[in-house]
Amino acid sequence: MYESIKAAVTARQAAESFGLMVNRSGMAACPFHEDHTPSLKLDQRYYCFGCGATGDVIDFTARLLGISNHDAAQILAERFGIQPESQTVLTSKIKPAVPLRVTEQRCLFALVQYEKLLRFWKKHYAPRTPEESFYDRFVEGCRRESFIADLIDEMMDADPWRRKQAVKLLLRDNQLNRLQDYVQKQEEELKMNKNIHITTEVMEHGRCCT
Ligand SMILES: [Zn+2]
Repeated sequence: MYESIKAAVTARQAAESFGLMVNRSGMAACPFHEDHTPSLKLDQRYYCFGCGATGDVIDFTARLLGISNHDAAQILAERFGIQPESQTVLTSKIKPAVPLRVTEQRCLFALVQYEKLLRFWKKHYAPRTPEESFYDRFVEGCRRESFIADLIDEMMDADPWRRKQAVKLLLRDNQLNRLQDYVQKQEEELKMNKNIHITTEVMEHGRCCT
């Protein structure tokens, strides 16, 4: 099974299917260390020039989702439609009736990415003097971090019913897709305007909660 997966799916395809932004040269921001410039090279295998993380598509998925290689192989097989006995990729798209386990992983991944962003904002947009008013992003970080952290706890709960409730909440009104788009957009913006980001925002939008 491991061999069929490795033959059929590249680390890059897996990364993209889990929502990582991979640029034209096959580079992405490394999810395994604090990385704001793309230092992770993705191809058949992956290698990070920042933290040295390396391995195949199964290692990558296991590490990204924090699960065992065995579970990672199953998720990849489901996601890419790989039959145990063949090496054919039936579809690279998620099937309409997504098994809950895959949906759960997607929810969890989106939440973890968002939580990471909120934490970053809380740190980088924190007021530096008592007189300073608050940035929108700082406020969003403060308001939503604990809610998102609670949802992550629900998603990792051993009780399937609790996980299902959390998934239900996230799938309502297309929220999961919207969250993924939102996080992706914010991360892209962060990467592009890494240095001028904070200054331009102050100039263009001012601040809230004065
Ligand atoms: Zn790295």
